[in-house]
Amino acid sequence: MAPPTQPLSINQGTLREQYDFRGFVEACVRNGITAISPWRDKVAACGLQEAARLIKDHNLRVSGYCRGGLFPAATAAERQAIIDDNKRMIDEAALLGCECIVLIGGALPKGSRDLRGAHTMVADGLAAILPHARAAKVPLAMEPLHPMYAGDRACVNTLAHALDLCDALGNGLGVAVDVYHVWWDPDIERQIARAGPRILGFHVCDWLTPTRDMLLDRGMMGDGVIDIPYFRGHVEKAGYNGCIEAEIFSAANWWKKPGDEVIRTCIERYRTVC
Ligand code: ZN
Repeated sequence: MAPPTQPLSINQGTLREQYDFRGFVEACVRNGITAISPWRDKVAACGLQEAARLIKDHNLRVSGYCRGGLFPAATAAERQAIIDDNKRMIDEAALLGCECIVLIGGALPKGSRDLRGAHTMVADGLAAILPHARAAKVPLAMEPLHPMYAGDRACVNTLAHALDLCDALGNGLGVAVDVYHVWWDPDIERQIARAGPRILGFHVCDWLTPTRDMLLDRGMMGDGVIDIPYFRGHVEKAGYNGCIEAEIFSAANWWKKPGDEVIRTCIERYRTVC
C-alpha cells in the first residue's frame, strides 16, 4: 500500500507527560507537524484564548478536541451538568477551530448494572447537545471504545452502535475510528463502509501483546498486531480524507522518552507502517 497522503496529526495524549500545551505545540511545529489534537485539560491550564492564539500563530490544523461525552450519571441534575459542560466544550472547540469534538460514551453510574439504561443516557445526552453543536458548526465524533471499557469508561463499544446513534440523531453526529478500539471487530469492514462520510476522525496506534495495562499501554504503530493499512484503506475507500491522528497513551514507555524522539518516531512509522 502506498504511504499516506493525508497529514499526520499528533494527539496531545501521546505526549501527555512531556509537555504543557505550549510545549506540545512548539515541539510539533519544530518537527514539521501541521496538525494536532489537543486535550481539554491542557488547553484549560494554558488558557483558552492563549491556546487559540498559539494554534493560529503556528497555522495548525486541529483534527479533534478530546474529549467530551461521558453522559451517564445517577441523577438528572448530574446528567444536566454533564450536558452543560459538553456545550461549553463545543464553544471552546469552535474558538480553537477544531474539525470535530471526540466523544466517548461514559461509565455505568456507580453501583449500577443497567448498561441498557446507560446507552439511553448517551442517546439522550447527544440529543441534548446536538442543536448547540450544529449552531456552532462543530461536528461531534462518537468514538466507540474497546468493549473492555464498557463498565468503567465508555459504554459505546462498537462502530455499529455508534452508527445506530448517528442514524437515530442525524446531522452533526459522526464517528471517530480508532484502530485500537475496533481492530478486533469481525464486522468492521461493513461498518466502515456504512459510516461513509460520517467518519470524522481516524486514530492510529498499535495493540501490544501482551497488553499490560488496557488504558495506558498502547503501542507505537508497527509494534503490535494491528494491520493499520487495512483500516486506512477502508476508511479512505469510505471517503475519509482527514488527518491520520497518532494517539498513543503509553505510561511505561513513550511517555518516558524525550518528546522530540516520540514525534520523530511517529512521523517515521506514519510513513512506513500506516
Ligand atoms: Zn482515539
